Amino acid sequence: MNEPKRTRRQFLETVGAATTASIITGTDGARTSLGTENKEKLAIDGGTPVRKTPLGYQAYGPQFYNEVEKREILEVLDSKKPFRWWKSGSKTLEFEQAYAAHIGVKYAIGVTSGTTALSAALAALEIGPGDEVILPAWTWYADYDTVVLAGALPVFAEVDSSLNIDPTDIEARITPRTKAIIAVSLQGCPADMAPILEIARKHKLRILEDFSQCVGGRYRGKYLGSIGDIGISSFQQGKTITAGEGGAVVTNDPILFERAVRAHDVGSLRSPYKESLGGGRIPGFAASNFRMNEFTGAILKAQEQDLETICNALRRNTRKVREGIADLPGLKMRKTPDLEGDLGVTVFLDHGTRQRRDQFLRALRAEGISASPPGGSAILPIDERIEKKVTVHPDWPSFNTPQGKAIRYGSECCPQTIDVQQRLGGVIMDPNFTDDDITDIVKAIRKVYLAMYAV
Ligand SMILES: *Cc1c(COP(=O)(O)O)cnc(C)c1O
Repeated sequence: MNEPKRTRRQFLETVGAATTASIITGTDGARTSLGTENKEKLAIDGGTPVRKTPLGYQAYGPQFYNEVEKREILEVLDSKKPFRWWKSGSKTLEFEQAYAAHIGVKYAIGVTSGTTALSAALAALEIGPGDEVILPAWTWYADYDTVVLAGALPVFAEVDSSLNIDPTDIEARITPRTKAIIAVSLQGCPADMAPILEIARKHKLRILEDFSQCVGGRYRGKYLGSIGDIGISSFQQGKTITAGEGGAVVTNDPILFERAVRAHDVGSLRSPYKESLGGGRIPGFAASNFRMNEFTGAILKAQEQDLETICNALRRNTRKVREGIADLPGLKMRKTPDLEGDLGVTVFLDHGTRQRRDQFLRALRAEGISASPPGGSAILPIDERIEKKVTVHPDWPSFNTPQGKAIRYGSECCPQTIDVQQRLGGVIMDPNFTDDDITDIVKAIRKVYLAMYAV
């Protein structure tokens, strides 16, 4: 699965050849601009930085808090009823209905977090001891932890240079016990759902979409969350819209929805879901409490109205940066399966090696632009507690089956993921960057890129 690794010299030769070619044969504009930019001294080497005041992104949702959030939350205070079941006009219900309509699914249930949404979705899919679930090796802990908490066995697949699960590495991980694939859309980039769906159909597997880091993202015209069997998102502060914490489960399947509702509320089915699901079709079962309160519902109802505004602003800003650097010779960007549906959270370049990536990020920061490696996730198989398969009890079912005992995590199970995660890096975008900010980002990336890579 590994892409062929190139030595530094080979890389510089390739880039160098491309640079020379474009300087000699490019249009006049490109030639002049590449030629003069080339001579600029980097801030990291004592040159003048592009910006005096450093530029960085902030949490997206809170930047859009306004009178609507204030009004909604005051209404909950005035009602004296912060618990959703004991009132009419539930804010949480209104949020769920608006969110389901936005994403294009029949059902949505609000829960306390993305993590508890995952637990409810796994319960809906009836995943438990003896089952295996495939997930990307680079993602947030919750995808692994909730599978273990369900008693099932997490099996990692590699990510590719989109930083999402590599569809070509899924089939090798399937066994007769595999029950589901968690298709995670990370740092604003949609997972490549078409090949994943095809594999799932072929092997009769369920797809759980985790679009926590891509709320509002689309794939081939459909919103993430509406493509797999069931979807989950988080509304923690780092996500597109937020109430600080919160989550949701979405689906078109009434049975999966009923199980998710029961899983989130001590196995019960209360109004209005009892009515909307025709009284319910499955018996209750042992479950937890992941219920969303009315304060969270009120904020999310208001935030939901800003979702397209946030996504469109992000996409517009990212497109401008991409256009501003598109002519850089040898440029390799983070891969995406759908540029239109991608949220545009990152402008990440593929630098080929960790050393060059880190050098690039350091130089960009010196220019006054905050620059980052991939974030918001971890390479899970090399996390110590995962590598050691630590659980709350030594007899935990996940690792007591022959498969659970045999499975080996650690760096051997995800060399491609480690490589990709170390090669990529760049700028994390903000919906409220101004045109001047965008100009500075473009200027800084061009300056550092040409200084590093042009010969
Ligand atoms: C944030 C996140 C979660 C968990 O959400 P919480 O609300 O923090 O529990 C799950 N999956 C992914 C991909 C996430 O980014």
